[in-house]
Amino acid sequence: MFKIGLTGGIGSGKSRVADMLAEWGASLVDTDEIARSLTAAQGAAMPAIEREFGPQALTPDGALNRDWMRGQAFADPRVRLRLEAVLHPVIGRETERQAAAAKGSYLVFVVPLLVESLARWRSRVDRICVVDCDPETQVARVQQRSGLTESDIRRIMAAQAARADRLEAADDVIVNDASTSPEQLRVRALSLHDRWLALASTTGR
Ligand code: ADP
Repeated sequence: MFKIGLTGGIGSGKSRVADMLAEWGASLVDTDEIARSLTAAQGAAMPAIEREFGPQALTPDGALNRDWMRGQAFADPRVRLRLEAVLHPVIGRETERQAAAAKGSYLVFVVPLLVESLARWRSRVDRICVVDCDPETQVARVQQRSGLTESDIRRIMAAQAARADRLEAADDVIVNDASTSPEQLRVRALSLHDRWLALASTTGR
């Protein structure tokens, strides 16, 4: 199957683009959503997390206790690596499972941190598509969407890849900045969708 890796910084608009592609017939595999469901109550990663960190890593209903984990990771950066060591293989297996079951005209992996793990993704996808947005618009959009403060948002952005590094890794770019209306975004996404459909049919994957 022809495969796209779709990425972009927080608030860039990648979920909006992904929803449109799905509406037009692409299959989506969303790694953030997979991570969330695996760490929700009774999620498949929870037994391994409890083995690694003990019962205090779980909320009373059995989900990942994110506040506790954040506190631990803040005190000791190795905690984050231990959590990733538990989570990454489980996320990887579920990602493969969903990809193998996909039936759409092509497959889109939605990966917020794709460029941060470029070595893993480059060989797994045919094209990397970046939804590009200026930092000020990212902050404004995320502020509107969530209860996060500006400094929270800037901290998240600082931990993500730089805009230039994302663009450097991109085969395709969808500009979705402050001057882009939802209709313009749709037109840009549709034009890439058409190109990918054509590529999907000629590569025969
Ligand atoms: P991401 O998934 O990259 O974090 P989203 O797709 O959730 O970003 O977009 C962030 C917010 O900005 C959402 O509320 C979305 O509806 C809004 N948004 C994205 N692009 C535009 C646009 N071109 N015009 C208006 N609002 C937009």
